[in-house]
Amino acid sequence: MKYIVVTGGVMSGLGKGITMASIGRLLKDRGYTIVPIKIDPYINIDAGTMNPYQHGEVYVCGDGTEVDLDLGHYERFMDVELGREHNITTGVVYDAVIERERKGEYLGQTVQIIPHITNEIKARIRAVAAESGAEICLVEIGGTVGDIESMPFLEAVRQMHGEEGENDFLFVHVTLVPYTALCEQKTKPTQHSVKALRELGLQPDIIVCRCKVPLKDEVKAKIGMFCNVRKNAVISAQDAEDIYEVPLLLEREGIAEIIMSKLQLTQSVEDNLWEEMVARLIESRQGPCVTIAIVGKYAELEDSYLSIKEAIKHAATAVGCNVMLKWLEAEDLEIARGLDPFFEDVQGILVPGGFGARGVEGKINAIQYAREHKIPYLGLCFGFQMAVVEIARHVAHLKDAHSAELSETPHPVIALLEEQEGVDELGGTMRLGNQQVFIRKGTIAERIYGKNKIVERHRHRYEVNPAYIEQIEKDGVVFSGSDRSGMRIEIVELEGHPFFFATQFHPEFRSRPNKPSPPFKAFIEACLQAS
Ligand code: GLN
Repeated sequence: MKYIVVTGGVMSGLGKGITMASIGRLLKDRGYTIVPIKIDPYINIDAGTMNPYQHGEVYVCGDGTEVDLDLGHYERFMDVELGREHNITTGVVYDAVIERERKGEYLGQTVQIIPHITNEIKARIRAVAAESGAEICLVEIGGTVGDIESMPFLEAVRQMHGEEGENDFLFVHVTLVPYTALCEQKTKPTQHSVKALRELGLQPDIIVCRCKVPLKDEVKAKIGMFCNVRKNAVISAQDAEDIYEVPLLLEREGIAEIIMSKLQLTQSVEDNLWEEMVARLIESRQGPCVTIAIVGKYAELEDSYLSIKEAIKHAATAVGCNVMLKWLEAEDLEIARGLDPFFEDVQGILVPGGFGARGVEGKINAIQYAREHKIPYLGLCFGFQMAVVEIARHVAHLKDAHSAELSETPHPVIALLEEQEGVDELGGTMRLGNQQVFIRKGTIAERIYGKNKIVERHRHRYEVNPAYIEQIEKDGVVFSGSDRSGMRIEIVELEGHPFFFATQFHPEFRSRPNKPSPPFKAFIEACLQAS
């Protein structure tokens, strides 16, 4: 097993995750199988209870684990399926060690960070690597070198470095090279962060420098000299227009060759699919333009909807058009009339997932507007539930119909899922991850998926109340997807509308750069036709 460990210095948000995902992609394109692991030094067991304001979206894996959005980048860049074991948090590690301590498994020893916590970390990394059957394991250590929280993890990989073979372990450090007003590239922050790393016994093999414009040669030489790496292992990672260009940028800097030679790997295949995809992506920016309104609550923080943005991009690349996003704050739409100015320049409306009552009437207004003005509509999870509420109120005439999540209502058309075990335990009560969806024949859903049985990822507590299925499903309203029993509704679509399609599941989580999600692709095609 070969290991590549990615650490970060100077500050967070430099794109360690994208760097690691890009390295994974480059190695995959050379014929290697990869397994990525994300280490999050926070105490939370997983990201399920975390506020998207602080961390960006909660990404949902196939097995239902709720994780940091970096795992989404890994899945999209490397086209792999990840799950619980690929995200190691401080909480997970301590939980396991404390449980073992309580069972007396440490036989009276004093349980300490070194060796017990570090051993647990090493064992977990090695177990995931071994069980995956992959050839290369990539480990990203979240946070910034110097944080108290990440110390045990850095110590664990320091030990592993000594225990694994000389040519089986490699460190990549991601730092920032700021650009001053005098157009000078400053190396001091990088020097300091590498110094901090070396004080912990870690010497980077490769330094990836985030910068505005390509690093000057002498700047590379200086960093190499002060930080004890070869000049060619100082990699310039200047801002790219799109994250999918980063693998190509790193490739031009020769990062793959350096990794291959240090880890004694040889190239077995050459795969250009990524490069071709990026070429199409760039070309699609020149294509016809459509504007999509996204009506949400965290509209000001676009990272809360990262996977949706990516899925739109995958679809736009495949369709060959340029998509502009117009972020609308749902609360601003809570007016009965006069929505035209919000939507007059848009060719599509999307209501994403969400929780809680704030802004909900604005979302319902947007959906009504889309339905009545025949603007293509895509609803995802909460955007599906609110579409059902809108239809119940205005098509099925169920006065004051609503979701039981949001208010008292005579018609709870959206109601709590049947009781499951552990209902009162926050973060453990949702229907999560991959579930089979059965698609009815002769529907739009069947046309866009091209099959009658699909798997998509879920994250919800509420669902269509089966007691209302018959009352709502008429006048062109079709529940075209459900679980095997037909009682748990998964898709609603409208006949006689250019495109009105909403899903209880989150198709955005399975969309990949070269495999756009079918509902997104159909939505973008419909928007293009509407323009
Ligand atoms: N709040 C809704 C529910 O719990 C929708 C969740 C979501 O959009 N992810 O069912």
